[in-house]
Amino acid sequence: PPDVEQLGRSTWTFLHTMAAYYPEVPSYAQQRSMKTFLSTFSQFYPCDHCAEHLREEMKSKPPKVESRWALGKWLCEIHNIVNENLGKDIFDCSKIDERWKDGPKD
Ligand code: FAD
Repeated sequence: PPDVEQLGRSTWTFLHTMAAYYPEVPSYAQQRSMKTFLSTFSQFYPCDHCAEHLREEMKSKPPKVESRWALGKWLCEIHNIVNENLGKDIFDCSKIDERWKDGPKD
């Protein structure tokens, strides 16, 4: 079976980076594509119990895809729910660009 920790780190890197480079002002078609992507992702993420939790969370917190900012914040909050469940530190969502796009300020 997959290494759930390694898979998780790699997947969060991909998801947060994708959100960081999502358009500031996405077209309607891009918004629909991102919704479809996230829904498909939650069906096939290869950690069954993780995917099940994610689908459950997405029912009460549907993806926000109307802007880069909204998507990044939504994903950060979803990741924080997982962090909380695993007893990990909560991440400061005002730091997502610094972590996933711009790097630390000098
Ligand atoms: P990770 O949580 O993998 O985080 C990687 C890096 O992201 C951190 O070092 C930090 O720099 C940054 N980061 C942390 N929090 C945030 C945030 N909120 N926003 C932006 N950046 C952040 N594991 C389980 O055991 N059970 C589960 O149910 C489970 N569900 C998961 C669901 C999904 C969708 C994913 C992608 C992973 C899931 N995992 C689950 C794996 C788990 O979340 C971690 O990836 C894994 O435990 C490794 O943790 P880590 O401490 O290396 O950091």
